[in-house]
Amino acid sequence: MSTPDPTSIRVRMAPSPTGSLHIGTARTSLYNYLFAKHVGGTYVLRIEDTDVARGTDEWERDIIDNLHWLGISWDEGPQVAGGEDIGPYAPYRQSQRMELYAREADRLLASGAAYHCYCTPDELEAVRHEQERNHEAPRYNGRCLRLSDADRAAFEAEGRRPALRLKVPPEPIRFDDLIRGEVEFDNALLGDFVIVRSNGMPLYHFVVVVDDEAMEITHVVRGEDHLSNTPKHIALIRALGYREPKFGHIPLILNPDRSKMSKRKSQTAITAYREQGYLPEAMVNFLAFLGWSPGTEEEIFSLAELAERFEIGEVHKAGAVFDKDRLDYLNGVYIRSLADGQLAYRLRPFLPDALDDGILMRLAPLLKERLVRLGDATELAAYLTESDSQVADLHEPELLLPKGRSGAEVAEALALAHEALAAVPEPDFAAGELEAICRTTAEAHGWKAGDFFRPLRVAITGRLVSPPLFGSMELLGRERTLARIEAAQARLRG
Ligand code: GLU
Repeated sequence: MSTPDPTSIRVRMAPSPTGSLHIGTARTSLYNYLFAKHVGGTYVLRIEDTDVARGTDEWERDIIDNLHWLGISWDEGPQVAGGEDIGPYAPYRQSQRMELYAREADRLLASGAAYHCYCTPDELEAVRHEQERNHEAPRYNGRCLRLSDADRAAFEAEGRRPALRLKVPPEPIRFDDLIRGEVEFDNALLGDFVIVRSNGMPLYHFVVVVDDEAMEITHVVRGEDHLSNTPKHIALIRALGYREPKFGHIPLILNPDRSKMSKRKSQTAITAYREQGYLPEAMVNFLAFLGWSPGTEEEIFSLAELAERFEIGEVHKAGAVFDKDRLDYLNGVYIRSLADGQLAYRLRPFLPDALDDGILMRLAPLLKERLVRLGDATELAAYLTESDSQVADLHEPELLLPKGRSGAEVAEALALAHEALAAVPEPDFAAGELEAICRTTAEAHGWKAGDFFRPLRVAITGRLVSPPLFGSMELLGRERTLARIEAAQARLRG
């Protein structure tokens, strides 16, 4: 027996553009990407935009842009939102593939594998209620399966338009899931399901199967929320005489309380993480570990390293708990691994234009140790672009005063610091020098360093949390540093 060539593996990601790129979709996309890269296969992006009522170009753009931001690329499909489709199976947007679906629907009808159903929503609702009352599983009761030509003609004459239903054979469906192993469903429980609505609109289960065949997809890797759809898809594949791809269902992402991750309890849009200044490298590293691990203690992996190590069969079966602290930790690791110039470049969108690039280059190394997210820099650097009087407005005594010290004492400490700092000439106004002077002054007057530095920090930045104090003074410059200390003194003296 010959082993199949792994480079002929074709996987796909099939997002519906009905919302912003979701963490779960990003992870599914990443796993497909890693799987394809690992085996040298092909990764296809297909836009499932048949749900026209909800799909919008805006969401397609969001999904594609954010996948690119993560560094995920694909071999076939639209490369930019609204752009041309690349690849031999184009178009890759379902809204442009309607003819194919109509053809395949006709084929099912002609072969008797599907039939017209004239039931109205009210009639179906009545059947559902009846089944509920009898404690039966809700499923189609098969009424229209047995219609005579005369019945059909009568319904047509009433103006009813038929939906198309798949006749689901009552046989068990088994498949060997790439992740979960053997899975078995009793298809008798499914009932015949609608594949084309009465208005002619083909439905998800049908189009996904038609497209996976048409695009020669060999492996369908998707979220566990689709597991219960797979028996329907297999029933369709059999009815259409298609080849059955391999299926793999990746575990759900869970909130820390182990409930299914939801917008209500967690931030789910990738774009929101991006806006807060999570690095794509950290996000990818984090997402990869939501349901997979290399089986060692190693935790830092680039996209390329992940692709080298990732095995689809090693994906966990159990749900993956979303641990925000871990993401924060990883983000810090990646921020600290950036060269100063790189960090400055990445910080630029989070800082006002008024902050000039020269200052930013000097600020970056000061911030490096303190940032969890790039967005934290906005607040940490604000003191540099705020005017002296804006900062003076923040000089609240409760911020300025360390515990157990009076306003008069702190005003005196500020005066001592001012005097010492004023003695440093402009060219020597550098962090190391300033720190040495302030420490000596504090000690000489019986102040604990921490208590002495607190009012200085608040005076200069208007905040209790800032970049390192003496570096902050250096960046602000001698004149403005002294002016802000004077303003804080004045505030305390009332
Ligand atoms: N459009 C479906 C979704 O976004 C794709 C499911 C699948 O991968 O089959 O959930």
